[in-house]
Formats: sequence, C-alpha cells, structure tokens
Amino acid sequence: MSMNIVVIGSGAAGMSAASAARKASRDAKITVITEDEDIAYSPCAIPWGIEGKTGWDDIVMHDAAFYKENRDIDVIIRTRVETVDGDKKEVVAAGVTYPYDSLVIATGGTVFIPPVEGKDLDNVFVVRTVRDGKNIQKALEGSTNVVIGGAGVIGLELAVALRDMGKDVTIIEMMDQVIPRIADKDMADMIQQELEAKGIKFVMKAPIQAVKGDGKVEFVTAAGEDYPCDVMIFATGVRANLDIPKMLGLDIGQLNAVIAAPTMNAYRRGRLVPDIFVAGDLVQCQSAVMPGATMSQLGSTAVKEGLVAGNNAAKGEKKEFGPVASPWVSMIGDLQIAGTGMSLGLASWYGIDVVCGKAEGLTRARYYPGGKRLVVKVLADRTSHRLIGAQIVAGEDATGRINWLTSAIIDGKTAETFMVDSENAYCPPTNMVRDVVLAAVEDLCLRLKQ
Ligand SMILES: Cc1cc2nc3c(=O)[nH]c(=O)nc-3n(C[C@H](O)[C@H](O)[C@H](O)COP(=O)(O)OP(=O)(O)OC[C@H]3O[C@@H](n4cnc5c(N)ncnc54)[C@H](O)[C@@H]3O)c2cc1C
Repeated sequence: MSMNIVVIGSGAAGMSAASAARKASRDAKITVITEDEDIAYSPCAIPWGIEGKTGWDDIVMHDAAFYKENRDIDVIIRTRVETVDGDKKEVVAAGVTYPYDSLVIATGGTVFIPPVEGKDLDNVFVVRTVRDGKNIQKALEGSTNVVIGGAGVIGLELAVALRDMGKDVTIIEMMDQVIPRIADKDMADMIQQELEAKGIKFVMKAPIQAVKGDGKVEFVTAAGEDYPCDVMIFATGVRANLDIPKMLGLDIGQLNAVIAAPTMNAYRRGRLVPDIFVAGDLVQCQSAVMPGATMSQLGSTAVKEGLVAGNNAAKGEKKEFGPVASPWVSMIGDLQIAGTGMSLGLASWYGIDVVCGKAEGLTRARYYPGGKRLVVKVLADRTSHRLIGAQIVAGEDATGRINWLTSAIIDGKTAETFMVDSENAYCPPTNMVRDVVLAAVEDLCLRLKQ
C-alpha cells in the first residue's frame, strides 16, 4: 500500500518538502494543508509587490492546480489544522481527518508584535503573507505618513519601497543601530546614512510605547514623542509557531523553536520521533560556527530543510541538513548589505572574543567605468583564529562574496588558511585583480598577530 504523507504549511519549507517527497516516492499520497490562500510564493518579494515593482501574480509561483497536475500533490488551502493525534497518526482540519504515515510540520512563524496599547487599531499591519501585502497596498492609497516598527532588513526594505512611492516614512527602532543582532554598527551605519539621504527618518533607541487613534491609527508614540501616522507596519521579528509541536509534545529548544535531528526528524523527551519531520522558521538549527543552537529564519534555510524533511518523510535515500552559517543579503536603496556567521553582537552573546579585519575597494578594476564602493569586514576568534563571520556593504555583487566566505566558515578555515587556500577569478568589469575579500582577510591576519 502506498504511504500517506501530510505536510502542514504551504510556505517555502512545506512546498519544498511536498515536492521532495514526490521526487523520492512515485506512489505516495501527498497532501498539503494550509491556512494560507496563496501557496508557493516568495514573502521575500512582498516589499517590491507593495511598491508595484513586481506584480502579485508574479510572486506566487504556482497554484494548487499546478501541484495536482504536475506533481500529483493535493493542496488544501484556507484550512487550519486544529488537531494532530500522534498516537492515531491523524491530522484534523475543518472537520476532516487525514491519516498519515509521515507528517511534516512546516507552520513557519508569526510576526512578534510588542504588547502595546492600540496595536489592534485599523491600518496597523504586519507583513508576512501576500494578503498582508495587498492590505497594506490598499491602506497606502491616499495615506501620507507611514511608521515602520523595527529597523531589521524587512523594515528597511519596506521603508525604501514606501519612500519610492512618495510616502513620508519614519522608522522606530529600540536599538542604537539598524539591522541589529546580525550586522555590526559600523556596517549598518552606512545603510542608515543611505536611507537618511533618501529622506527616511529614524527614531533610534526608542521602543514603541503606544499606537493611538480613534478606531484608526493616528499617532505612534516612542521615547515620549507622538509621530503622525496613517499606516503603521510592525516588522519587529518572527516567533516560531509552536502550537502543533506543543500539541504533539515535541521537544522545544532554548531558543523557543523545535529541536530537529540532521534528518529533520523531531524529538520527544529526547527520543527521535521517526514519523514526524519539521522544517522552516519553526526549527532551531545547529550553528556552523560553534557547538550550539542558532535560529536561521531565512527562505534559503526553509527550502533546504524542507527538501531534506520531504525526502526523508517519503523514505528516500536518507539525506541530512547540516549546521548553518545563515548567509543573508538585502538590497536597500542603492546598496547591498550581506552577512554570514556571527556578528559582533552574536559573538559576544556566545562569549567569543573577536578580532576584526576590514578593507575597502571597488567592485570593478579601478580604471573600468561603473565600479562601486565595496566594504568587506571579516571576524575571527582571537584564540583559534577561525573565521566566524563576515559582512559586506557594496553597490553590487555582495552575494557571491558572502557565499564564498560562508563556505570558508563552514569548512572551519582560519584567517591564515583562507589566505593560502583562496583564489579569485578576475576580469576588469567584474572585480579587482585581488578581490577586496582577500584584502580584508589579510588585514585580519595582521591584527590577529598584534
Ligand atoms: C517581507 C519578508 C521578506 C523576507 N525576505 C527574505 C529574504 O530576502 N531572504 C530570505 O532568505 N528570507 C527572507 N524572508 C524570510 C523567509 O520568507 C522565511 O524564512 C520563509 O518564508 C519561511 O518559510 P516557512 O515555510 O518556514 O514559513 P511560512 O512561509 O511562514 O509558511 C508557513 C505556512 O504554514 C501555514 N500554517 C501555519 N499554521 C498552520 C495551521 N495550524 N494549519 C494550517 N496551516 C498553517 C501558513 O499558512 C503558511 O502557509 C522574508 C520574510 C518576509 C515576511
């Protein structure tokens, strides 16, 4: 008899899991159940969807009919899973019972909203789904003042999109820098300056105290000041959705996310649960930099985990998901910012003593027209000299460089072995003959000697 695979959630993790399950098993019955109305879309594109640079239909890659016709996967939309019985191996949603042999939980995360007065007023939004994006777009019609809570990557991407739409944008951030936690202040300040030059206002070191208005938001209060506001968007971080894992008694880690084996199986009271898999934003990962847990709430991580979870759920040849350095990149205005591994903030949280190296150059040969500024910063453990993190701010081409440094971090290279082992391709229109990455690591080697 063919096996039943049920996947809960239709985001990057869930749809990757369903597709990988189909690749591993021709005859499994695969059912995806999701609360969402759209499936297989890229939340990462929502800021540009709101701005109108990309159409909503372009962001949604496939619909349920595509999955049925091309992959024989049943996708049930607008349906919340209410109960999962791990003993009977059944999922119940909208009164229908779905038996499973393997279950993949890919229920993602929810935007954390600080518990402030007025957060439920009209025109106060979070941004997570295409529906959120469409609602924000509608509310923006005829609105002037937009306040964004949180200066993380998503908040900044939104700010640029809204500013380019002609809105008056204010960002309120409780920390003293933009992109806190994953970027260092010296790198993040370059991005803040770029946005200030575009006319985006920042209120820093100011937790949001209240959202005020009569039915609809009119002001947002932070640091004792009222900021006029027609539309408020919270971009204040994501918390793992743990209802279903908790219902099943799965082990939750110290970062408040589900603990997973490299096979993406969940655990219950320390024992691996052979028929339950997890993937995506609700999972706690293993850090590639140090022996410990980390979060990697990224689309790229969700897809990779989903592929492993789905394959193993369908009993394909066993695959594993490794420790993460979590490389990320963003295009903010005319600048790209990228990072990998530990920032100074994260390293201090883990008690690592850090030495930094930095170099600045251009993205093309000096004489070749159109070269843009490129700043590379690299971080190493003072004792072992091991590379633990890197950040890049550049006018172009940050992604390839951060991926290069990510491989080195995952390989456990020291600054010195990186200098010996690394080579860079070269052509005047694409980079300098000696890439700025090498100059930054060389600077790091010198500082490690001091
Ligand atoms: C605006 C924005 C920009 C981003 N930009 C980037 C980027 O540039 N690069 C990057 O790597 N990452 C980016 N991310 C993060 C990335 O999108 C997420 O890490 C990724 O989408 C997580 O995928 P997921 O499948 O785990 O979760 P989700 O996409 O959240 O999917 C969870 C699914 O579970 C469903 N669900 C939840 N509970 C239930 C239930 N009880 N019953 C049924 N269904 C349920 C939901 O409806 C949803 O379909 C961005 C995120 C946002 C919001």
